[in-house]
Amino acid sequence: MISTAHRRTTIALSLLLALCIALDAAADPALTAKPDPEAPGVAASAGAAPAGESHPAHPIAPNVDLKEVTPALAPPAGDPDAMGPPLPHPEATPNFPLLGSEVAPATAARLAWSPDGSISGLASPTPVLVVNGHRPGRTLCLTAAVHGDELNGIEIVRRVLYDINPGKLSGRIVGIPIVNLDGFRRGSRYLSDRRDLNRHFPGNPDGSLAARIAHSLFAEILVHCEVLVDIHTGSLGRTNLPQVRADMRRPEVAEVTRGFGNIVVLHSPGSRNMLRRAALDQGIVAVTLEVGESRRLQDKPVAAGALAINRLLQHQGMYSRLFPLGSPEPIYYESLWVRAPEGGILLNDIKLGAFVAKDSVLGAVVDPITNVRTPIQAPVNGRLIGMAVNQVVMPGFAAYHLGTEAPEEEPVEIDDLEPSPEEEVIDEAAADGEIDPEE
Ligand SMILES: [Zn+2]
Repeated sequence: MISTAHRRTTIALSLLLALCIALDAAADPALTAKPDPEAPGVAASAGAAPAGESHPAHPIAPNVDLKEVTPALAPPAGDPDAMGPPLPHPEATPNFPLLGSEVAPATAARLAWSPDGSISGLASPTPVLVVNGHRPGRTLCLTAAVHGDELNGIEIVRRVLYDINPGKLSGRIVGIPIVNLDGFRRGSRYLSDRRDLNRHFPGNPDGSLAARIAHSLFAEILVHCEVLVDIHTGSLGRTNLPQVRADMRRPEVAEVTRGFGNIVVLHSPGSRNMLRRAALDQGIVAVTLEVGESRRLQDKPVAAGALAINRLLQHQGMYSRLFPLGSPEPIYYESLWVRAPEGGILLNDIKLGAFVAKDSVLGAVVDPITNVRTPIQAPVNGRLIGMAVNQVVMPGFAAYHLGTEAPEEEPVEIDDLEPSPEEEVIDEAAADGEIDPEE
């Protein structure tokens, strides 16, 4: 226990430090507006980790700051050697115009997105990490912390983006590690107006705070994306086995899900105004990647999430990590939620990821006063792809998310799917009875 706790603390501190650096730098316009002409070349920097630093537990790279590997946009005319020897066919990939900057081919950059979500004088931009590849290809976008208390995705984006050598990339990767910077700073899922940002896409420039931020994200960044992976965790007090959620009725979405390796893929169209669904409506092939619990940084789930995205990069022909051909394929599931029949203290008997037989006991709700114990049984054979952690629950609380294997070709109809607790109306503003004039 001591070593586990110590490791968690170490990971948390490291991440906080990295975030502080990122946030400070993003607030400094000099870092994004003026690339350092003395910065070393891309390939050399990206391949060299600082001496004495090694992280065997996290075989990711080059601990370099993306701003340091962004060379000047173009060499002065008549000085072809200013950037060193040219890579072959540099003209094949154009600059990537994003957020008022031009990211040159085979380079990485750190940009700043400024949604209209704060008092102007107090606003600080949201960092956006970009890698423009040496060769043309698809544009993959990674969003995390749309819910500000979901930390695992922030670390997944960091690991994936900082482990890319821009000279070997085909296409472009855009990572927004903390979409909801407002909620993140307060350790909250919600925006400061108590709205759930992931219920307000694609947004409205004249709408509520959430609608304005959502619209800005689409207009400024997501319009450039062809494939979007929106990374989440279970909502408060629930944990998810690493899983992709996707609308399998769409062939282009099904094609992308085949690239994640042997991960659970859950047929799920998503609810209205979720980022994933709104993106799909606008022609972006979008899926959600669910990984672990909120408010925690979990090493194994994070590693599984980063691996899944790296497999996707190879599957999309963007970046090879020499995963063997014929990599294990995803397992497709439908799902149902098992709810607590009574209120009380939920005590789990099984672990996340377990395969369970119909009628086997998943856990129990115990009344702390009367000592009455009510077991909760599995209604079908299945696999536990999500669950609540031990806690006090009320009757009807969604406690166990059971997946049942389903063929990829025969996704269930929307009406057959019970909404997940994350899709239920839990927007705090709505719960308070505030009526949003847009809705
Ligand atoms: Zn979420």
